[in-house]
Amino acid sequence: MHSKPVINVFWFKRDLRILDNEGLQRAIEAKTPLLLIYIFEPSLESNLHYHERHWNFIKQSIFELNQELKSYKTKVHCLSGEVTDVLENLVKNWEIKTLFSMQETGLNCTYNRDKEVKKWCVSKDIHWVEHINNGVFRGLTNRKNWREYWTNYMMKPIKPFKATTGDFISTETFPIDEIPLRSKKLEGIQQGGTKKGLAYLESFLKKRHKKYQQNISKPEAARLHCCRISPYLAWGNLSVRYVWQRAKQAKTIGASASQINAFTSRLRWQAHFIQKFEMETQMEFKSVNAGYHNLNKPLNLAYVDAWKNGKTGYPLVDACMRCVVEAGYLNFRMRALVVSFFTHHLWQPWQAGAAFLGRQFLDFEPGIHYPQFQMQAGETGINMLRIYNPTKNALEHDTDAVFIRKWVPELAKLPTSFVIEPWTLTGIEQHGYEVILGKQYPKPIVDIKETYKHASTVLWHMQRNAKVRKESKRILAKHTLPNRENIMDR
Ligand SMILES: Cc1cc2nc3c(=O)[nH]c(=O)nc-3n(C[C@H](O)[C@H](O)[C@H](O)COP(=O)(O)OP(=O)(O)OC[C@H]3O[C@@H](n4cnc5c(N)ncnc54)[C@H](O)[C@@H]3O)c2cc1C
Repeated sequence: MHSKPVINVFWFKRDLRILDNEGLQRAIEAKTPLLLIYIFEPSLESNLHYHERHWNFIKQSIFELNQELKSYKTKVHCLSGEVTDVLENLVKNWEIKTLFSMQETGLNCTYNRDKEVKKWCVSKDIHWVEHINNGVFRGLTNRKNWREYWTNYMMKPIKPFKATTGDFISTETFPIDEIPLRSKKLEGIQQGGTKKGLAYLESFLKKRHKKYQQNISKPEAARLHCCRISPYLAWGNLSVRYVWQRAKQAKTIGASASQINAFTSRLRWQAHFIQKFEMETQMEFKSVNAGYHNLNKPLNLAYVDAWKNGKTGYPLVDACMRCVVEAGYLNFRMRALVVSFFTHHLWQPWQAGAAFLGRQFLDFEPGIHYPQFQMQAGETGINMLRIYNPTKNALEHDTDAVFIRKWVPELAKLPTSFVIEPWTLTGIEQHGYEVILGKQYPKPIVDIKETYKHASTVLWHMQRNAKVRKESKRILAKHTLPNRENIMDR
């Protein structure tokens, strides 16, 4: 009988890079012809957390990888199907010795898929090697030594891409149908690929970081003065280690130490949150603090729709929601603000908004998104309760209403004080400016003085509940670092 050629497979997931891709380098070093694949999974493509903008970003990233891989006469082969079906198809032509991939901390659907892949590999006697990604560790039960692990990981030398043509399965000999890599340039949305990510990083380290902390909370200025590398980290175009080391280097050649330090601590929060998600498998569905499982928040679909469509009658909230739906990005404070508005002022269960917002973020990273969403909803029991006032935030962070005017054009021609508080317009003024509340722009759907009172009373009361307190102790013991920092303030 004709024996099948023996190969190894490298399955790209959220690590779409060749620079400092430890798993890829290990796969190359294994010295068995290597097949590079990406799998577009129908079950993920239809998942509510994902949007066309994500698949587009992934395709752009692979397109760039393929340009780089051309000289090695190979590419990332793009296959469509559920992972075990795709692998099953591959073993018709080859004998797979080892499957390499990153260790993914993801949604329940990718966790279940990985369990299936594991089962399949065992059944076929295939070794599956998963490499650690960005300093998140599997199997930890507490954070005692986590910071040390993370720092050691970040300090390890960057893995340059080293390969020869003979290391790979060549493009010409690939017998399976691939899906075409068609992507669109989506207006106002960051484009995928390591080169693009590096350009954001370098311009930040060179110049844009200088006003980082002063602008981090401002919805318009943050777009320029924050680094904007989050999608490149979320999809793995850049490794956190590379970014962290470049940032440290930048300090030695004149970049502002305090600004860069504020940036590098956020790089650690990146893994801190994902590590929490890794260690709390139910966080996608339930509050990490079981004391809040009985919190009763009736679903109000009219409120949910108003929030999603940017029609709540609170201009800053509406500007943020319209902006994120169109452009896929909001700075941290505005993300916190829209979640606070949804869960506190509209009193909606966080579960009713989390997937929708994740779907909008180009940088959607389940391990940051869910813990942050719950923290902003005030359902962890260990963080300070923050109920954001959208008007106060507009006055402080969008003082001239530049951001609101951009995203809520129906208010654009009003004087600034009315853009921020349109409900203060008298009837005559509404006619004069031709902005009739309830017609051109909605009246506020709730009264935030009342909703603030209600949410703070209920949630402060709950913080004293015995179950919440017991759970808080458990969470602190399991997830907090020695010398815990306040990671709420920005
Ligand atoms: C409700 C909510 C949901 C969020 N969902 C996501 C998400 O899906 N994906 C995501 O990458 N970030 C998420 N964040 C965190 C944060 O808002 C973004 O990382 C940040 O705004 C990205 O912009 P930047 O790259 O310019 O950040 P910078 O300020 O330049 O920071 C550099 C990097 O540090 C990391 N980082 C910064 N702030 C945080 C933070 N608070 N927590 C964890 N990591 C951080 C990010 O990787 C970021 O790219 C969320 C925040 C909230 C409040």
